[in-house]
Amino acid sequence: MNLSVVGTGYVGLVTAACFADLGHTVIAVDQDPNRIQLLGKGQAPFYEPGLEELLRRVNRSRRLTYSTDAGEAVRCSEVIFITVGTPSREGGEADLTAVVAVAEAIAPFLSDYRLIVEKSTVPARTGGRIRDQIRLLTHPSVQFDIACNPEFLREGSAIHDFLHPDRIILGVENERSERLLRELYRPFDCPILVTDLNTAELIKHASNAFLATKISFINAVANICERVGADIRLVAEGMGYDARIGRAFLDAGVGYGGSCFPKDVAAFIQLAKEAGYDFRLLEEVARVNDQQRDRLLQHLKNALWVLPNRTVTVLGLSFKPNTNDLRGAPSVAIIEALRREGAVVRAYDPAAEAEARQIMPDVAYFQDPYEAARGSDAVILLTEWDEFRTLDLMRLKGVMRRAVLIDGRNILDSSTARGLGFHYAGMGR
Ligand code: NAD
Repeated sequence: MNLSVVGTGYVGLVTAACFADLGHTVIAVDQDPNRIQLLGKGQAPFYEPGLEELLRRVNRSRRLTYSTDAGEAVRCSEVIFITVGTPSREGGEADLTAVVAVAEAIAPFLSDYRLIVEKSTVPARTGGRIRDQIRLLTHPSVQFDIACNPEFLREGSAIHDFLHPDRIILGVENERSERLLRELYRPFDCPILVTDLNTAELIKHASNAFLATKISFINAVANICERVGADIRLVAEGMGYDARIGRAFLDAGVGYGGSCFPKDVAAFIQLAKEAGYDFRLLEEVARVNDQQRDRLLQHLKNALWVLPNRTVTVLGLSFKPNTNDLRGAPSVAIIEALRREGAVVRAYDPAAEAEARQIMPDVAYFQDPYEAARGSDAVILLTEWDEFRTLDLMRLKGVMRRAVLIDGRNILDSSTARGLGFHYAGMGR
């Protein structure tokens, strides 16, 4: 099939490369000419395991090409995916500027039948609005359909997740769209749920909101654990054996971040409000999440008493392991707070240093955790990179001024740390 994908971020690029690898002919379009140039050379614009290798393979096969021209995408492809960003506006509602821009860029080139598929995460009713806007910009004889095919991949395991989804959601308005999308996803071995547009859009928001709720729930329980002297990790394990609950997303810590959960929770709250429903449950989810950052700082203050002129080393900056994405990362808010309180901040992250330097130029960055921790009054661990699970705590203690270790992801063995003489605090332990 001839496809195009407009927006070459985490979702768009992975979608384009994976479909090309499956044998389709794909044009990946982006408005950013630098990005398109980089992609043509087989270089990924962000860190995602396996992506550069995949890009080199599909570039060589010539099944994936790149362009800044949405017109080319429309002329050459029967199916056009929209995969641009949908960040938050000030009030929390989804900023659909990029989605609207793509719809308007596509419209003038439509002549033969095309299926336009929104893969970006959007509030319910967006697909219908895209259809109406494109209709206003095209001749009445032009045939096109809109579909919604939300994406559930996770950064850090994006290629695997794209190719092995738990389910595929097809929000369609007629059989023709359903047939095309079913054909495209034929090699995928998972349930396919066909719905209307609004339902498909809502499934994505509801899924992310539910996962965020699980995280805030366990964080709230972690706060109770600290007060009554229980261990949240065992509480989560005990709950997780219940098949109705499941163990996933029950890791207490500094809270969720990233480019999706915070903005999707906010957008879902706003959508509910517009629809006349007060989604207070989700408002509380967001509030609990924000409080976790303060909770970690409180642990730090309990150990250091005051923060001015104390040197604090942050291990882990990306919002999760195996990515260099800093959008919505707890580290950014926590470092901002530390600096506001007068602490000196040093940092190490296996992948996100370059991105961090751009938004936090005043932090001192190091190439390894022990160098970063040298002379520090405290180490705070904010991302559960695998290499931190096997930190040599003895060596770490040896280079620090004060042996204070705040484990914002609960990945270290508390008794080992305490046995070595650390003041150790986890989240809910
Ligand atoms: P991103 O910010 O990484 O990339 C967006 C890309 O779109 C950028 O390269 C940008 O230059 C391009 N773009 C913006 N406006 C454009 C235009 N008018 N024409 C052409 N290109 C344009 O975004 P992302 O993280 O891939 O997310 C895309 C969507 O997918 C969002 O709605 C997000 O919520 C959703 N989503 C993201 C993830 C994730 O893990 N990142 C997972 C599932 C769903």
